Amino acid sequence: MRIYRKLLVFFGKFKIKCKYTDWLVYFYTDSARKGGGQEMGKRFEGRTAFVTGGSRGIGKAIVKKFAEEGANVAFIDLNEEALSGTSAELNDSGFSIYSKMADVTDKEQVENAVRETVETFGSVDILVNNAGVIRDNLFFKMTDSDWQTVMDVHLKGSFIAARAVQKYMVERNYGRIINISSTSALGNRGQANYSAAKAGLQGFTKTLAIELGKYGITANSVAPGFIETEMTRETASRIGISFEELINVSLKQIPVGRSGKPEDIAHAAAFFADEQSSFVNGQVLYVSGGPKN
Ligand code: NAP
Repeated sequence: MRIYRKLLVFFGKFKIKCKYTDWLVYFYTDSARKGGGQEMGKRFEGRTAFVTGGSRGIGKAIVKKFAEEGANVAFIDLNEEALSGTSAELNDSGFSIYSKMADVTDKEQVENAVRETVETFGSVDILVNNAGVIRDNLFFKMTDSDWQTVMDVHLKGSFIAARAVQKYMVERNYGRIINISSTSALGNRGQANYSAAKAGLQGFTKTLAIELGKYGITANSVAPGFIETEMTRETASRIGISFEELINVSLKQIPVGRSGKPEDIAHAAAFFADEQSSFVNGQVLYVSGGPKN
């Protein structure tokens, strides 16, 4: 079966389009059209998930989780290297994917990606607003640019993507919107910008839940604690300690005695995305190994 899928991918359509400054990677295989990577009885079979920042870290784990559980998966990212690596990896496994370089803060790029996703797979049923950046600094040193960049990527980006998918979701009377917040929403030293954005996302989530619920669309939020990704690795290097040291410091505050992995967040996102979670709406699920010790 696996070899058969690989052959499908190999002989399938494989397009790489390059347009001046807009470098886009577009993988669409015959296996995608035929639903390759899907097997009977998988809970997201026939569904299409759209994940922002889906090339690495938490986003990649979410993309893989949905693909493994039968969904067609579309993901966008700004990280070109991670995008092509993850696209090739998933394509090789025979999953149905669409991937594209796109900036969540750019309305046209996001709307085009969502439209192409619907053209490719027929619908967009699940959105995960995951793309994120940090620009940490103590409040008195924080620049206008540190503030604005974080607001734009997390808040404006989630707004643009949610608005882009909702019209397709409303048409089909079905949708699952999942916004990735953070325990930093409760306050975190050096993250005045990020904590405000992540708290803002929770309010955004609850309002979408109220407005879109009657169309069969739920909106929920996953708020991760410390998760081992490139983002936290960068934090370690910014404060001048090794990643292992940062993990050890964080462990002291985590009741379950281990740090989080991207798969922990993917599991929570899949719970909200499940068709059977239709009565779970406007919630924030902290996935952090417990309240801080
Ligand atoms: P990550 O490893 O840095 O991955 C984030 C991805 O988003 C990167 O590929 C990044 O591309 C992409 N991205 C950034 N800005 C974008 C934009 N404007 N448009 C499209 N893609 C963009 O981060 P992560 O740790 O997996 O975090 C994923 C989400 O979880 C974020 O929202 C983060 O705030 C949240 N979170 C993470 C943790 C944690 O401990 N890791 C905890 C709580 C919440 P570039 O590489 O080009 O920037």
